Amino acid sequence: MNSKDNKDLWQSVLAQVQFAVSRANFATWFRNTEIISNQNGKVLISVPNSFSKEWLSNKYHSLILKILRSLDKNIRMIEFVVKSEAPQLIKRKRAPQKKEIINNSQLQFVEFKIDQKTNLNPRYTFENFVVGGFNELAHAAAWAISENPGTTYNPLFIYGGVGLGKTHLLQATGNRIVNLFPNKRVKYTPSETFISGIVESIRNHKIEEFKKELRKIDILIMDDVQFFAGKEKTQEEFFHIFNSFYQAQKQIILSSDRPPNAIPALEERLKSRFEGGMIADIGVPDFETRVAILKAKCEERNINLNQDILEYIATNIQRNIREMEGALNRLAIYQKINQKEPDFEVAKKLLRNLVLSPKKSTSFKQILRIVSAFYDLSEKDLLLPTRRKEIVKPRQIAMYLLREELKESYPAIGRRFQGKDHTTAIYAYEKIAKQLEEDDNLLTEITLIKQRLYNNNSS
Ligand code: ADP
Ligand code: MG
Repeated sequence: MNSKDNKDLWQSVLAQVQFAVSRANFATWFRNTEIISNQNGKVLISVPNSFSKEWLSNKYHSLILKILRSLDKNIRMIEFVVKSEAPQLIKRKRAPQKKEIINNSQLQFVEFKIDQKTNLNPRYTFENFVVGGFNELAHAAAWAISENPGTTYNPLFIYGGVGLGKTHLLQATGNRIVNLFPNKRVKYTPSETFISGIVESIRNHKIEEFKKELRKIDILIMDDVQFFAGKEKTQEEFFHIFNSFYQAQKQIILSSDRPPNAIPALEERLKSRFEGGMIADIGVPDFETRVAILKAKCEERNINLNQDILEYIATNIQRNIREMEGALNRLAIYQKINQKEPDFEVAKKLLRNLVLSPKKSTSFKQILRIVSAFYDLSEKDLLLPTRRKEIVKPRQIAMYLLREELKESYPAIGRRFQGKDHTTAIYAYEKIAKQLEEDDNLLTEITLIKQRLYNNNSS
């Protein structure tokens, strides 16, 4: 086959792939790909770099093969090869043309208006949500619900660390439901707003009206329900609202920074309601996915940055997508002002104080603060020489982290806790380490705590 045939064939494949994957994923993974040969049933597809190669082989191999075979029965296998020369990298290094810069500034100032009725921000869609192993399940569940609200899983409970896409996914689900079911009344509510609404309406003796208004809604999206911790009145009212929604087969979608069983001071009956539908977590994206997200964001905002810079950001900001966006913003502003792309050295300077040191470190004070906040204890409680169950476990976790993250010696760890010595520290470390191997809940809790330890936003 000649190169024109290959080109046409690949165009037909891409046309179909486009329907099967989201726009963000399409733009990220299928750009700069082409068929370089089609011989003896084997198709060679060139891809720009090894990430693309790995990702395409893992995720899209069978999709591409299926489509190719439907177009040409002789094709039996495909292989991805990294283009030895990467002309698009060279191209990217040129200064952006004037026109692009104008587009860029226009794009940046597109204002997204929050819808008064639904409280949804149209900026958050499935189209611009990148999917990878870290959020696959949550994405699939949210997508399924948007097709069939109320009947698939109720509630849907999504949890994960700060800046990793919970609000985006919740709002994307709401936006899609509004599109598919214009008659359904969707409402997005941050938990803090709900809590203050309850407090306010109790004070004004308007709680019945408050609840009546809520019952008019068909789809209730409640963001960050970890803030319900310890708020008894809120929990009680929410319990009744939850039940009325559930019985009427109205969809409830919840998010939290941790799973229901790790929310402190949450009534048992609410906990079991939260656990009664589908629970999906969002983890931390791996390096390849972080690069993919950065690429998608550049694409969306029409920024040109070369691969080195993207990899630099992905290497140095690991646990928070919002922070990665902050880094891109800074570079975009430079590009706008100077009418040229920052080179690697300039980018590194611009990002210096976002990136801090490549290996962010933590400290005893931070571990103490974050562990006690996580378990809703005071820092003083955690240091007390008590055997109370609700304190013993968090204290052992703090000791475990001092050893694991700061490499402190056992005697030093013992001294930090009143009346404890090295044997207690060893016991604590070994107990938690062993339990981690068999207890998924504990693993989740410690993962979330570590995310906070190394996350700028929450420290
Ligand atoms: P959270 O609610 O978990 O703290 P957000 O949903 O506010 O996090 O996400 C933080 C930022 O990162 C947002 O600007 C969001 O658009 C972006 N973001 C998060 N996850 C993704 C993703 N998978 N693809 C693209 N952008 C994402
Ligand atoms: Mg959020």
